[in-house]
This record gives sequence, structure tokens and C-alpha cells, in this order.
Amino acid sequence: MDKEDKAKRVLAVLKKAFPRAKTELNFKTPLELLVATILSAQCTDRKVNAVTPELFSRFRTPEDYATVDTAEIERYIGSINFYKNKARSIKLCCKRLVEEFGGRMPRSIEEMTRLPGVGRKTASIVLAEAFGIPALAVDTHVKRVAQRLGLASGDKPDDIEEELKGLVPEKDWRSVTNLFILHGRRVCRAKNPLCGECGLREFCEYYKTKGG
Ligand code: SF4
Repeated sequence: MDKEDKAKRVLAVLKKAFPRAKTELNFKTPLELLVATILSAQCTDRKVNAVTPELFSRFRTPEDYATVDTAEIERYIGSINFYKNKARSIKLCCKRLVEEFGGRMPRSIEEMTRLPGVGRKTASIVLAEAFGIPALAVDTHVKRVAQRLGLASGDKPDDIEEELKGLVPEKDWRSVTNLFILHGRRVCRAKNPLCGECGLREFCEYYKTKGG
């Protein structure tokens, strides 16, 4: 089976296992998703979702974040790890949004990654989830699942993104992100993956060498 075939069959299995896969971060606007994604670095979505209702009702526009002292943002996100750095990132990012983009969210990965603190992963999540623009985000789960399945040989997220994009049609890029993240969280965990319960065993290089 070549890699393209494998990717297609893997997606079919995961789509059945997680039929409503989407980001688990709560948001109503692209700006809210951008802020939530910045907050989610090395933090659970559950913790982020616990603080964002109050944060989002206080700060509604990029101007709101850009014009306050970072201490005001910190007040709302103190339970999130690295909250001081994240408050600073959010403020700088929103300042750039106001100054360079007239307060509107850019809709391309090139423009979005010009925002301070926004890398390809964050940009891809916002483009795909908030705008429905094809994008594939590689986080720690996507990386692990892709490598274990033998769908990616690289180690850098940018290389893995390119490899995966070459294997699946554009319309499935977003699904790859969401399905691999859910599978990585629930089944293919970093430590002690639940291979016995996994529907992907027949495709999995890791299982063949270590689990099987
Ligand atoms: S068989 Fe195990 S290692 Fe392979 S994808 Fe499934 S859970 Fe992950």
C-alpha cells in the first residue's frame, strides 16, 4: 500500500471514529479563536475554555487588547501557564492587527504569520476553523500520529505539514488536523498508546515494530 492509499484509509477510519471532529476550543469569532489558540500552547483546551468566556466579554476587538496594559489581560488568564508571556503576545499581536491590517484578521498564512507570536500552527488552525480556508496544522499530536503511522518521515513540523499535504486532497487538510489531534489525545497517546483499542493497527509502523 503506498502512502497516499494509507492516508486515505486512515482518514476513513478516523472519520468514522470521530464523526464531528473540530477544534475543542470554544470561540465565536476569528479573533476569539486566535486568542484561544495562543492561550492553548502547552495548556489543555479545557483550561483555556474555562477562562475565555470572561476574557471575551471584556475584550471584543483587537483595539480592546491593543490599548490596555498587559496586566489587565493577565487578570483574566492567571490560571493559564505562561500567562504573562501569553498576555504580552496577545497584546502585541492585536497591536499589529490594528496597525497593519486595520483591525481585520488576515486570511492567508503568509500574512497571519507576520503577527507576533503566531506561527504556522496557530495560523493554520484559525484559517481552517474560523474561515474554512484549507490549512493543515501540525501540533505535537499530529506529528506523533503521522510519524507512528509512517505517513511522515521528517521531524520538523513544517516538513511534516508538507508531507501530509502531499498525501491528502486539500479538502481533507482540516480533517487531518482535527482527526489526528483527537486520535492523539484519546487513543494514540504519547505514553502508553491504546493500541489494543485502535482501528489503525493494520496501517501502523509503530505497532508493527513495538506494539504488535
Ligand atoms: S496502533 Fe497504537 S501507535 Fe499505532 S496509531 Fe494506533 S494507538 Fe497509535
